Amino acid sequence: MKILVLSRNANLYSTSALVKAAEARGHDVRVVDYLRCYMNITAHNPKIFIEGEELTADAVIPRIGASHTFYGNAVVRQFEMMGVFTVNDSVAIARSRDKLRSMQLLARKGVGLPITGFAHSTDATGELIKMCGGAPLVIKLLEGTQGVGVVLAETAKAAESVIEAFKGLRADILVQEFIKEAKGADIRCIVVDGKVVASMKRQAAEGEFRSNLHRGGTAEKVKITPEERSVAIRAAKIMGLNFAGVDLLRSNHGPVVMEVNSSPGLEGIEKSSGKPVADMVIDFIEKAAVKRPKPPKPT
Ligand code: ADP
Ligand code: GLU
Repeated sequence: MKILVLSRNANLYSTSALVKAAEARGHDVRVVDYLRCYMNITAHNPKIFIEGEELTADAVIPRIGASHTFYGNAVVRQFEMMGVFTVNDSVAIARSRDKLRSMQLLARKGVGLPITGFAHSTDATGELIKMCGGAPLVIKLLEGTQGVGVVLAETAKAAESVIEAFKGLRADILVQEFIKEAKGADIRCIVVDGKVVASMKRQAAEGEFRSNLHRGGTAEKVKITPEERSVAIRAAKIMGLNFAGVDLLRSNHGPVVMEVNSSPGLEGIEKSSGKPVADMVIDFIEKAAVKRPKPPKPT
């Protein structure tokens, strides 16, 4: 098969792991910088180009960076319009990038979440803090990734100041109950085609509550419970993602979903779990691209 990895950087661990896995399985694979793609929008003959060359493919693997969701997703949508199979479709990627929309969808289906509030205006700050059970609270920038813009406010006063400071910068935020009993750890489950194929526990560095690897967290192998497995699978399914990283916190009231990522990183998970996740993604493409009835409808 001809497979394109839509990624800005061929040297990233995740991108090169996918390329190697596809090559090892005998596919013709290439990394395409989606920001350098341009396209025509016509009803009957959608096309996509890079440097004067028309791109064709049997399948694409989108690895769209959080800061380029808008354009990157337009490229994924164009491939869908051309009838090319995509590992995650553009609608699911857009959904996963909108934290509020994701949480509303998950909540509607009864998936456990940390108690979460959000408001546009600061008029309701006091109420919002109360609604989430009071301090300590976690305050998050909606646009943040890799733990940047995630703040722990130990007191209601601190929470109020942080909320007002973020609002003063015109940033959208959400306020969340602090899951103290998680003890600075979270569980990342990788779901491929409705199955958890790998998982890891990330532990925050000493004195830090954020377990992101970019924040000095460390990853280790973990055995997840059947309930955690089922929550991760359901979360990916509700989001409509064939390939997802589902982040869970172990709370007193069972596993709660923090985030569902549509381009989960592969380095930490492959190294800590020992599972060839990239290879499993290619395996999924081989099966799904063939039996797929028709391309997803772009919206
Ligand atoms: P990002 O998407 O920027 O990684 P997250 O929402 O995943 O932001 O938060 C970063 C880290 O902070 C998480 O991996 C987790 O360890 C910690 N964290 C986030 N929310 C909570 C919470 N409500 N309770 C306890 N820890 C949290
Ligand atoms: N982009 C990475 C992921 O979603 C973030 C990893 C991290 O900082 O923990 O896997």
